[in-house]
Amino acid sequence: MVKRNLDLLRARIADAASRAGRDPQSVRIVAAAKTQNSRIVEDAVRAGVTIIGHNYVQEAVKERPRPDECGSFEYHMIGHLQRNKARKAVEIFDVIQTIDDSATAAALDHAAHELGRRLGVLIQINLANEPQKSGVPEMEALALIQAVESLRNLKLLGLMTMPPFFDDPDAARPFFRRLRGLRDDFISRGFMISSATELSMGMTGDFEVAVEEGATLVRIGTALFGPRG
Ligand SMILES: *Cc1c(COP(=O)(O)O)cnc(C)c1O
Repeated sequence: MVKRNLDLLRARIADAASRAGRDPQSVRIVAAAKTQNSRIVEDAVRAGVTIIGHNYVQEAVKERPRPDECGSFEYHMIGHLQRNKARKAVEIFDVIQTIDDSATAAALDHAAHELGRRLGVLIQINLANEPQKSGVPEMEALALIQAVESLRNLKLLGLMTMPPFFDDPDAARPFFRRLRGLRDDFISRGFMISSATELSMGMTGDFEVAVEEGATLVRIGTALFGPRG
């Protein structure tokens, strides 16, 4: 089931990429595994998914897929991270996609230093300033990027966003385009290192639009695992 869903998903990503003149290989799927048990997530890794995303540290502790069962994968945190979970998060995850304040970034840097590793991070931007959503406001993004770049145990990989929900996926397009514009602008003005090219944007309902607008990481739950219970 997961294998078939993955094949369909890849075909849709390839179509969207070709509409935009992009190489489909430049788009990676992050399997959004919340509420799924680890067996199914391990099936996804066996089927060829290379990145797993979890939203909560607690759930990741319980439902982390086992590489000795399914093969290796990159493990990304895609939900909001509470500062008091920073150390645990560094122990578990390879990448935190949801950095939105400098104090949490500093806590992650400290934990990464203690654990002797370098942690990949993305900065989450709340482009529509939705109060219920996490993410740094666009106005404060540059200051946060500069704070993160000064932390030696963090490696900035790019930007992440979750646009407002729309029934019509095309309505999310301006937000995806905006995130790409910010990335290009921050890099070209030297505010962000030139390797920080990742754009994590697009979910089951709108990933094709996100790919057309430059997504390099699409976070997919439902289209891969089926509806959540
Ligand atoms: C659940 C989740 C997704 C995937 O949602 P689907 O619509 O099921 O594809 C993507 N990103 C985040 C942050 C999520 O929590």
